[in-house]
Amino acid sequence: MAPFQNLIGGQWVAGVDTAPNINPSDTGDIIGHYARGDASSVDAAVEAARAAFPGWAWASPQLRHDVLEGAAARILARKDELGRLLSREEGKTLAEGIGEVTRAAQIFRFFAGEALRLTGDVVQSVRPGVEAFVEREPLGVVGLITPWNFPIAIPVWKAAPALAYGNCVILKPADLTPGCAWEIASILKEAGCPDGVFNLVMGRGSNVGARMVEHPGIDAISFTGSVATGRRIGLQCMEAGKKVQMEMGGKNPMVVLDDADLDVAVGACVNGAFYSTGQRCTASSRLIVTDRIHDAFLDKLTAATTALRVGDALDPATQIGPVVDQSQLEQNLRYVELAREEGCDVIGGESLDGQGYFQRPAIFAGATNALRSSREEIFGPCASVIRVADYDAALATANDTDFGLSAGICTTSLKHASHFRRHAQAGMVMVNLPTAGVDYHVPFGGRKGSSYGAREQGSYAREFYTHVKTSYVAP
Ligand code: NAD
Repeated sequence: MAPFQNLIGGQWVAGVDTAPNINPSDTGDIIGHYARGDASSVDAAVEAARAAFPGWAWASPQLRHDVLEGAAARILARKDELGRLLSREEGKTLAEGIGEVTRAAQIFRFFAGEALRLTGDVVQSVRPGVEAFVEREPLGVVGLITPWNFPIAIPVWKAAPALAYGNCVILKPADLTPGCAWEIASILKEAGCPDGVFNLVMGRGSNVGARMVEHPGIDAISFTGSVATGRRIGLQCMEAGKKVQMEMGGKNPMVVLDDADLDVAVGACVNGAFYSTGQRCTASSRLIVTDRIHDAFLDKLTAATTALRVGDALDPATQIGPVVDQSQLEQNLRYVELAREEGCDVIGGESLDGQGYFQRPAIFAGATNALRSSREEIFGPCASVIRVADYDAALATANDTDFGLSAGICTTSLKHASHFRRHAQAGMVMVNLPTAGVDYHVPFGGRKGSSYGAREQGSYAREFYTHVKTSYVAP
């Protein structure tokens, strides 16, 4: 099969070499070979994007709408096939893969509408006879750097607003999941996106990503990934005067109070901690449980977790797919060992035989919030269970973290739910729902070490992808 190439200036072009895209459920299954570009590919993409920018920025919003709507329709028409590709390259279950693909289509459709809804303000000036206008303009060329865990949703939730508001795009997807990104590029091209408006440069972070961050022809960087990479990129962007947005890690708390509905709590915790193999920045990795419900909760959680079927992502019976690759699996297993050394009672967590990177979900019972296994992001199917005395201790423990992406509470008390909603130090709060699983038309993002810069998704996305211009006009 011919290698999948980069899209630069509307042309499919080879990179400096190619890399195989390997199915984590079955390492003998090669999905395809994908081009890897280098710094010169980024330079060519910037040249093409800069040339295309004036035409796209001043194009009728009808064109931008039609391209995004066309992409949404094409994705929906192919959702089963694209969901299968996603599950094959990333390892989440087929149902989750199709769900993510559907969401990508919904995001394109939402921003197709946003392209038509971009409004400004006309303000009466304090100076007689003068009119003041507040309008939004595109930034120029934006670089999008994305992780592997949502290989279609994250590139789309960045690209769709960028394009809707008149920017040109260079996307660098994660090395592990180029397949979905290549399909987005191909679909946008088919949907009539003009040459150079959307460019795809696959390759390594250390050369393709690094060149995007330093290139003076890129006006802004939207990054999602690990804290270490994000912080480095953020500093470089600030030095270069580039607008930057960073979405990074999490160690999200889920509080379970004595008055919680036990079935609701266990359901939310199993979903939040272990679905998508725990590989979600919003995963519930700290289950903070008050004293009286703790033992019943742990018994039920253990039963539900050990019953989960781990296996090939494409098998309809599978509930938990594989870990994404060998090095992530090794990292998860090191944390399982660490939790044991730190004194936790570890339930599950062992790797399983097979052609893929399978691991049983792990519960770290008897944990405290001070342990490294309770403080560091693992990014795998591992959750610490932390016993606390009461609601006040639960809230303090939930907030005692370097991260602040999502926080949840299971309770039947309106008083505690309302108090938690106001006092949880997180960008997103869930009541009687898993910490993961968000809508596409409202803001997404966190605080503290989890996020930096403007919110993503919904109409708030315009804060990042546009400049504000104020004009004063005297007749
Ligand atoms: P990562 O930081 O290793 O890589 C993210 C992207 O950055 C990849 O495309 C990578 O190639 C690129 N990159 C690496 N080094 C670079 C450099 N020097 N310059 C420019 N680009 C570079 O992260 P990952 O392992 O792909 O993803 C997992 C992480 O992503 C987890 O920490 C997870 O919490 C986080 N995440 C956060 C969110 C969120 O919205 N907060 C969503 C999903 C994932």
